[in-house]
Amino acid sequence: MIRTRFAPSPTGNVHIGNIRAALYNWLFARHQQGQFLLRIEDTDRERSTPEAVQTVLAAMEWLGLTPDEPPVYQSQRRTAHLTAAQQLLESGHAYKQDKGATGKGEAILFRMPGQESQFTDLVKGPLRKAAKDMTDFVIVRSDGAPVFHLANVVDDIHMNVTHVIRGDDHTENTFRHIALYQALDAPVPAFAHLPMIVNAQGKPYAKRDGDAFVGDFRSNGYLPEALLNYLALLGWSPGDDREVLTPDELVAAFDLDRVQASAAQFDLRKLEWINGEHLRKLPRTTHREHYRRAIPQADRDPAYLDAVIAVMEDRIKKWSDIPIMAGFFFSEDYPYDEKAVQKRLHRTGALELLGALREALAQCDPFSEETTEATLRALVTARGVKPADCIHPLRIAVSGLPFGPSLFAMLVVLGRDRVLQRIDRTCNRFAPGKE
Ligand code: GLU
Repeated sequence: MIRTRFAPSPTGNVHIGNIRAALYNWLFARHQQGQFLLRIEDTDRERSTPEAVQTVLAAMEWLGLTPDEPPVYQSQRRTAHLTAAQQLLESGHAYKQDKGATGKGEAILFRMPGQESQFTDLVKGPLRKAAKDMTDFVIVRSDGAPVFHLANVVDDIHMNVTHVIRGDDHTENTFRHIALYQALDAPVPAFAHLPMIVNAQGKPYAKRDGDAFVGDFRSNGYLPEALLNYLALLGWSPGDDREVLTPDELVAAFDLDRVQASAAQFDLRKLEWINGEHLRKLPRTTHREHYRRAIPQADRDPAYLDAVIAVMEDRIKKWSDIPIMAGFFFSEDYPYDEKAVQKRLHRTGALELLGALREALAQCDPFSEETTEATLRALVTARGVKPADCIHPLRIAVSGLPFGPSLFAMLVVLGRDRVLQRIDRTCNRFAPGKE
């Protein structure tokens, strides 16, 4: 039975690189009908506060990465770690370093076997390290505290972990860990080290590059299934051209064979796109709920709300876009994008043209996408101007924004009266001398 585990050191935030490690462990275990476990490596008492642990648990729960057994807390396994150290001392694989006069007690060091070490990483392929590059190392500090390497290996043995899937930064440690397994007479698990997540400059992706923690994505309106989908693709591909996959589809397709060894570049635009695709699959009621939550006035007219949702569907990429991108549908007091006003409305003739467009639109009957578009095109031809000279000012006048859904669909949802009033108000407000 395949058993994988996620072994975070809680620090109060969960970096996407860590949660991607959790995800790959989870996907691999599920795909192989194995088990996925969680071990909280909370031996750093300063950082591993109960709140920090809670943050890890909450992130995993939100993403649906449910472990198959209750979590193991490393801090509660100290006796087992020290027993293992004792066993290593007795078998001659470890020795005490006398601190002598410092009186600080004796550290315990592991004796490296003095031969070349090699293993085949499931992502990086065969790796080796010469004996001279591996020195003895501390497994129990002079204050009696077990060191990471010992605790990590002893706990993986205890949890019967068959596959250790973790970040690239642990590749070098693995040579030491393998020597520990062997000295403890335990089967050596398979190892897979995942590529780093980097920014556009190829440096490790960090908070200063943008959202980097699971909590950021959650509070910014991303869907857990979209974040999972995106993180799965950050270093792996399903082997076909699918990019939008549900968690079940990811499980069905996942394999360590197609995990890339080279660094994976974080691309927020792609995540947004994937999130938008997942949003569109959600039922209308969920969309309504989020609109109501973001814009209290959205509740007033259910038919109008549905029309707005339909027209905004392919524009809303995450829930937090709703108030910014769709707020204008529900308020006459919408803000104007200053740059857009500067560029499009403060041009010579722009307001006069907008006024002419208003008069033409007032004649549209019915007020449909076809008639409003034909009206605008006719005016463009009659005046010998560019379509953009009409389209942009009109969009800004009725929405305040330089971007948004299809202009003519948006006009129809707003309705003729609102559109005409909004144009009037805009012309008034930005008429020369008014500001
Ligand atoms: N606590 C270690 C980390 O978060 C775990 C390494 C491992 O997965 O073995 O980097």
